Amino acid sequence: MTVPKIWRKIPEMYNLKGRICPECNSYFFPPREFCTKCGNEKMEDYFFQGIGKIISFTIIRTPVSDPENENMDIAARNIPYVLAIIELAEGPRLTAQVVDCRKEDVEIGKDVEMVFRKIMEKGEKGVIQYGYKFRLA
Ligand SMILES: [Zn+2]
Repeated sequence: MTVPKIWRKIPEMYNLKGRICPECNSYFFPPREFCTKCGNEKMEDYFFQGIGKIISFTIIRTPVSDPENENMDIAARNIPYVLAIIELAEGPRLTAQVVDCRKEDVEIGKDVEMVFRKIMEKGEKGVIQYGYKFRLA
């Protein structure tokens, strides 16, 4: 599978960048230096499509850090929120927040797609970080 050129122009942080083993076609996220299935050490970069399905999820109702702290994860300010284990179409699983939906609409087995959202906003300097989250497809 070829990677659309446009994706290469976007900073890595905006992509779900992992690795693929060209020997046995195993995908890895986060990236690994060698293939844990066949031992191959010549891994290639791979940008995941960003689609998958919900394997399990939990609703976070307690802030994970001090609400007075401006450096905290924005997600933690907007409780409750949904945190899910997502299996990507290519196989690897990851944990991510599910956004843009009612919590009661989140179900195991539902399809999701990746979106990029603000994750951190650091006070007066205005340093903003973006990262991946998912929404119902
Ligand atoms: Zn392999």
